Amino acid sequence: MKRKDYISWDEYFMSVALLAAMRSKDPNTQVGACIVGEDKRIISTGYNGFPRGCSDDEFPWDREGEDTKYPFVVHAELNAILNAGGRNLSGSKLYVALFPCNECAKAIIQAGIKTVVYLSDKYDGTPSVLASKRMLRAAGVKLEKFEPETDKLEIKFR
Ligand SMILES: [Zn+2]
Repeated sequence: MKRKDYISWDEYFMSVALLAAMRSKDPNTQVGACIVGEDKRIISTGYNGFPRGCSDDEFPWDREGEDTKYPFVVHAELNAILNAGGRNLSGSKLYVALFPCNECAKAIIQAGIKTVVYLSDKYDGTPSVLASKRMLRAAGVKLEKFEPETDKLEIKFR
């Protein structure tokens, strides 16, 4: 008899997105994304961070003041799209911890991603997310809220 307590595809891919988020150096927000092909193979992952060559120690992580992180940070979704290295993402699914902003929505649509599975929608109603949803819906991208059946998955090294 096969195991009954194996994780679902959705749990697996969302977990990979959350694991990628753990690589983020952002002290306030850690977001991860995972792009999956129609054949259930992972194409790419990404997390929020500064572009290559822009040092995590030199660029600002501040959210307020004169020098904030906002002009510099690449979001997880865009990093995942760029990390795919030009591979065809048509029909793919993007798993992401946080509902995509309007800038990422543009990239998601243009990359041909067909479905967005998200965990949190905590910025729902903000201008960015309103614009994002408007574009994603107009482009026919399916939006699915991930509803986990368990609160947590544990990974043990020992
Ligand atoms: Zn974004």
